[in-house]
Amino acid sequence: MSWRRSKLALVVACFSIAIANGAGSRAVMAAAEIPAWCKALPRPEYAALQRVLPNEPWFEVYKVAPQVFAIYEPHQSEETISYLIVGTKQAVLFDTGMGIADLRSVVRRLTSRPIVVLNSHTHDDHVGDNWQFDFVYGMDTDFTRSNAKGSREDAQAEIASGEICGELPKNFNPKSYATKPWRISRFVHDGFKINLGGRTLEIVATPGHTPDAICLLDRANGLLFTGDTYYPAPIWLFRPETDLDAYVASVQRIAALAPDLKLVLGAHNIPVAQPSVLPRLVTAIEAVRAGKGESKPEGADKVISSIDGFSFLLRAPSASRLK
Ligand SMILES: [Zn+2]
Repeated sequence: MSWRRSKLALVVACFSIAIANGAGSRAVMAAAEIPAWCKALPRPEYAALQRVLPNEPWFEVYKVAPQVFAIYEPHQSEETISYLIVGTKQAVLFDTGMGIADLRSVVRRLTSRPIVVLNSHTHDDHVGDNWQFDFVYGMDTDFTRSNAKGSREDAQAEIASGEICGELPKNFNPKSYATKPWRISRFVHDGFKINLGGRTLEIVATPGHTPDAICLLDRANGLLFTGDTYYPAPIWLFRPETDLDAYVASVQRIAALAPDLKLVLGAHNIPVAQPSVLPRLVTAIEAVRAGKGESKPEGADKVISSIDGFSFLLRAPSASRLK
């Protein structure tokens, strides 16, 4: 796996820094040591959010709604965000991040209630600390079952050169880093409800990005946690497990919820967005699929297509034909 933003951005940024500094190859090299995505941090949107546990070295934790915590990992290029949603009886941990630092100890400092884990989908950057928890829900798909066996390859790519910003945790071992296997305690499906005590969360199946992609709806409080179906950065829709027709149907479904929502909470980069983004997302992905907007090649087999402030990382047309 790699960045949520274009590798091309790094090249462009280094070049412009070299010019600004009056050229010189040392300026280019210095820029290359700090990835461009890292230089863009902290993202300005975080200034308005309420930070908690400020001394946590790897995670940044923000209280984004009453009893809702966004647990952000700004030192790795995915900038993954997991969420802890707390009720009076139990709490749901929606995703467990990269598995680079000890997430369990952080969420234990946020709540003493029993914690159940539910994943927005089972890509490596959302399930890294699943193994730390006793109870993990899983969507009833082959993709979920296969990912629950763990893997090394995707995890290793997450710590390659240019993927880390700042320090890895002291006890982290890059050589042995892998997504550890986890046990699925209970299979769940579209419409499944979890009663947290004073708060109910409902699974909205949104296949597309992956077959097991879900959004999580807190209807009474107007919150929709969107995983990788929507986040405010280029949305990845190029992997073999992505089904674009299913993705469009899923974003149409969540856009229909927008009038009753107060906040949309995605799984990368920035945790809060306005619900009006969802109908605009439908228009954008439909337009891009109709050939509108701007498309640029991204490596040999992908294109990044942008329109109306949205961008999508898609399989290049020639690569799709080979599938
Ligand atoms: Zn993903």
